[in-house]
Amino acid sequence: MTPFTYERAASPAAAVRAVASTPGAKFIAGGTNLLDLMKFQIETPTHLVDVRHLPLDTIEDTPEGGLRIGALVTNTVVASHPRVKRDYGVLSRAIVAGATGQLRNKASTGGNLLQRNRCPYFYNTDLPCNKRVPGSGCSALGGITRSLAVIGGSESCIAQNPGDMAVALRVLDATVETMDADGATRSIPLADFHLLPGDTPEVEFALRPGELITAVTLPPPLGGTHHYHKVRDRASYAFAIVSVAAVLQPDGTGRVAFGSVAPRPWRVAAAEAELAKGPAAVVAAAFEGAAPQEDNAFKIPLAERTLALVIAEGRA
Ligand SMILES: Cc1cc2nc3c(=O)[nH]c(=O)nc-3n(C[C@H](O)[C@H](O)[C@H](O)COP(=O)(O)OP(=O)(O)OC[C@H]3O[C@@H](n4cnc5c(N)ncnc54)[C@H](O)[C@@H]3O)c2cc1C
Ligand code: SF4
Repeated sequence: MTPFTYERAASPAAAVRAVASTPGAKFIAGGTNLLDLMKFQIETPTHLVDVRHLPLDTIEDTPEGGLRIGALVTNTVVASHPRVKRDYGVLSRAIVAGATGQLRNKASTGGNLLQRNRCPYFYNTDLPCNKRVPGSGCSALGGITRSLAVIGGSESCIAQNPGDMAVALRVLDATVETMDADGATRSIPLADFHLLPGDTPEVEFALRPGELITAVTLPPPLGGTHHYHKVRDRASYAFAIVSVAAVLQPDGTGRVAFGSVAPRPWRVAAAEAELAKGPAAVVAAAFEGAAPQEDNAFKIPLAERTLALVIAEGRA
């Protein structure tokens, strides 16, 4: 690990000021992703600003009838919160499908949204990777791509977003609240939060340098039945190969997002409009223009089968 200095921030404003005033500084929350990346020297911050004890650790009702989840609320607390379980079941199920109990006890809402991709070549610092070293090349293209994106990638990068929570938040139309070094705040729709790689795959999130996530806000509940199915190589401690988050209504309409198939949670309005026609029609619309590799093309029929399971569950 490269040497670094450390401080514990006393307030959100102090945290953003500390990162802005120290070149090479980064926030650290649960540390479950950042510390791994530091051990591999993929991330080499010179200074860590610990935000874990900031008062951003509550879940509150919003005046509109929704829910505001502080950025430092752990995954365990979000998943087990009574209102999340009652009104936003897809979120609770998605979180519990991720990682392990120990990790979920540490992992924060903000840190989870910002977790990096799991492309095997991103973690192998002996090989080129445009996301790690811009302009160095992409070792995945022509390599082992089984876990990687089938849609939304580019000639520079085909890494997928591996998160579970973000797929549920996409279905729920969540927004991400932030604060910058000047104390200015803004709300970013989750739909715009994860960026497609294009020719700048190193820029993954719609955050400005030093911007702190302060909360995630959910609109009022949608009703319907809530589903999250994650297909993975092992029953636990494994990232999704494909996941489906859905909120289905009794009249056959609903919302659907696919996880681990694209650089962002993959939700397509035209695909949702096909729900009454069944899973094949939804998947055909959602994956129109997909560019799978030989060893990950199976993800598209797998997405269809997983969605079929979800729809059957919704009718049961
Ligand atoms: C073995 C293992 C298995 C896993 N399995 C899964 C899985 O199946 N599904 C899944 O979804 N995830 C999985 N994860 C990932 C895990 O969910 C993330 O590591 C975790 O959610 C990150 O949260 P954290 O608080 O620890 O973030 P940290 O590691 O502290 O930070 C991550 C990044 O976010 C930044 N950051 C943190 N908080 C803020 C903030 N408030 N504002 C701005 N920037 C911030 C940090 O600077 C850093 O860049 C797994 C992780 C491990 C180690
Ligand atoms: S797919 Fe992306 S993360 Fe993986 S090697 Fe290529 S550039 Fe790097």
